[in-house]
Amino acid sequence: MQTVRSPKRMQRLALQWREQGRRIGFVPTMGCLHEGHLSLIRRARKAVGPEGRVIVSVYVNPTQFGPREDLDKYPRNLRRDLALCRKEGVDAVFAPSDKDIYPPDYSVYVTEEKLSQKMEGRSRPTHFRGVTTIVAKLFNLTQPHVAVFGAKDYQQAMIVRRMIRDLHFPIRLILAPTIREPDGLAMSSRNNYLDPKQRAAATVLWETIRRVRRKVRQAGKPLPAEALRREALELISSRPEARPDYVEFFDPNTLEPLQRVGPGAHMALAVFLGETRLIDNARL
Ligand code: AMP
Repeated sequence: MQTVRSPKRMQRLALQWREQGRRIGFVPTMGCLHEGHLSLIRRARKAVGPEGRVIVSVYVNPTQFGPREDLDKYPRNLRRDLALCRKEGVDAVFAPSDKDIYPPDYSVYVTEEKLSQKMEGRSRPTHFRGVTTIVAKLFNLTQPHVAVFGAKDYQQAMIVRRMIRDLHFPIRLILAPTIREPDGLAMSSRNNYLDPKQRAAATVLWETIRRVRRKVRQAGKPLPAEALRREALELISSRPEARPDYVEFFDPNTLEPLQRVGPGAHMALAVFLGETRLIDNARL
């Protein structure tokens, strides 16, 4: 496994692999890898085959954090990440420095202007501009045939899919399922921030989704989104440690909000536990 720091070297290596006819699978991450990330790496390997090349990027991208967010305290452990990647048979880990990715006079950004306005975009106004910018740069540096994203960040995956289409990147996006802890909490590097009480209360995200899903599936007809939202917000707020940010029901393809919610609709929510903000989503 190669550890690559320099963007130029990464791009040269990827172009070399392409010239040799290797298929390249790419998994972008911010590191502090957990089973969710590892499942994406395995999915990438499956997509490119044993002769293909799997590249994982480990980069905590500053432009996707807001001014009052957790950039400085975001967990970093490159040594552990490298060991995990080696064990998974990754071919290259790309771990660039901030100064190589964003030199002081850096001035080009990629923005998606529709899907980015809602949900995460409303709560974190500059977040997706950072995401699309870094992902476009990483695509250019790793030259992948396929890129694997987690359904955990569903809106992000849909925005990247739109960027791939609208900017004509010759890349297939694979959406991989959310990996959960045994009690249902979606795995996330940010779960590390939770104290034991908050960790216990964090199950409320998945409990809320399951409660709404059961209700929607049993109803036999679409239910009003407003009533479902109210019920979900109440359930979340019943935990003293939890403070809801948003609960949304939307069309899984367009991300357009729904007035009425039936099976096949998508639900997403964001909840604060203390300072820590967690998200989850699922098809109902
Ligand atoms: P992150 O390191 O949090 O930026 O995530 C990198 C990639 O891993 C993104 O495509 C995420 O959607 C994905 N990911 C994060 N957590 C999970 C999870 N629990 N299950 C599946 N994919 C995940």
